[in-house]
Amino acid sequence: MNCEILCVGTELLLGSTVNTNAAELSDLLAGLGVNVFWHTVVGDNPGRLAEAVAIARKRADLIVTTGGLGPTYDDLTKNVLAHAFGREMEYHPEEADFLKRWFAKNTAVPFTENNLQQAYLPERCTVFHNDWGTAPGCAFEQDGVRVIMLPGPPNECIPMFRHCAVPYIKSLSGDVILSHQIRVFGKGESAVEDQLRARMEHMENPSLATYAKVGEMLLRVTAKAHTEAEAEKMCAPVVEMVQRELGSAVYGVDVDSLEALCLTLLKEKGLTFATAESLTGGLIGERFTALPGASAVYRGGAVTYCNDVKAAMLGVEPAILEEKGAVSYETAAAMARGARVAAGADLALSATGLAGPDGDGVHPVGTVFVGLADAERVWVRQLKLGTRRARVRQLAANHAFDMLRRYLQGLPIEQI
Ligand code: AMP
Ligand code: MG
Repeated sequence: MNCEILCVGTELLLGSTVNTNAAELSDLLAGLGVNVFWHTVVGDNPGRLAEAVAIARKRADLIVTTGGLGPTYDDLTKNVLAHAFGREMEYHPEEADFLKRWFAKNTAVPFTENNLQQAYLPERCTVFHNDWGTAPGCAFEQDGVRVIMLPGPPNECIPMFRHCAVPYIKSLSGDVILSHQIRVFGKGESAVEDQLRARMEHMENPSLATYAKVGEMLLRVTAKAHTEAEAEKMCAPVVEMVQRELGSAVYGVDVDSLEALCLTLLKEKGLTFATAESLTGGLIGERFTALPGASAVYRGGAVTYCNDVKAAMLGVEPAILEEKGAVSYETAAAMARGARVAAGADLALSATGLAGPDGDGVHPVGTVFVGLADAERVWVRQLKLGTRRARVRQLAANHAFDMLRRYLQGLPIEQI
């Protein structure tokens, strides 16, 4: 199935809203074995939207729209699509009742008639009731083209896709599509491609595709079969092959991120950790505490930017800072040790380095030392992470989590 994602909203064209729906829907659709071949963005303009629909229906057999389902004058997606596909609008009294009840329960403002616009949908469609907001979505088929319409707000669009559109898409084919995500850190995209390209090229079902992320890679294995068990059986040898080829660079299958894996492993082992951060300015702690349940294993962290603060808060010896400098193996080691003791944790991570653009006259920009301490030992990775500040900081955090997960998985820690 070839799909076009059509996002509607002038705010997307102005750059004031980032089109996260397209990115997330693409990812979810790929997991269903749907080929997303086009992303189109169009403003809240009926003429240009109609033009975009005319183009999309010629080349795609699935069109997924987001945005423009609300109650205001600029919400015109349903009307334009219904008109394009020659359908009348149909009133859904059960959706109207829901809207009235929703208003009474959730807002102090009176229910205005324009809200009832949301209860009109193209005739003969499958209604996607919105449990996360107000505007319902829908799906229909016309002349061999499937149309799915979802609201714009990501916190409505994505759950509605998962709960309503996924079962709808799955029901279109008698087959089950199953995919597994293999996450890789510490091996460049080109190296992975080089290793797997020959095999990947010849694989159709199951298929194997690579996706580059910030400092890491995702490989997706997808199989189509009559039953889930059959699809699972087809995926298994491919997952094993990738794990064999890439070794410990594979940090997990169907895990969300390095930090999510760390959380699971720390919980399993009943261990706690702490952080001492310089160039990452709290990013390691922020990424970890974004995970629900982090409090079970994360004791806390210190952001120690200046040398005297590293000494005062973490007990880094001034002699180390003077002789070796803040950007050094020894300082990273001392920061990790100090944080572990200060926070009363089993383990601690540290990061110190030069995020740029200014250097220290000694090391090149992007030089980073990341440390990990347990009660007996300390490990430090020396890295060269390039010259882009935001990327250097993200990669430093990735390396910190990679060291932690390697420790918890019983793998060698310093080398990658
Ligand atoms: P709408 O459904 O058109 O009323 O959209 C409501 C809000 O959802 C907009 O104000 C945006 O902030 C957000 N939004 C709409 N489309 C997108 C999109 N493609 N990606 C991310 N956010 C969006
Ligand atoms: Mg809009």
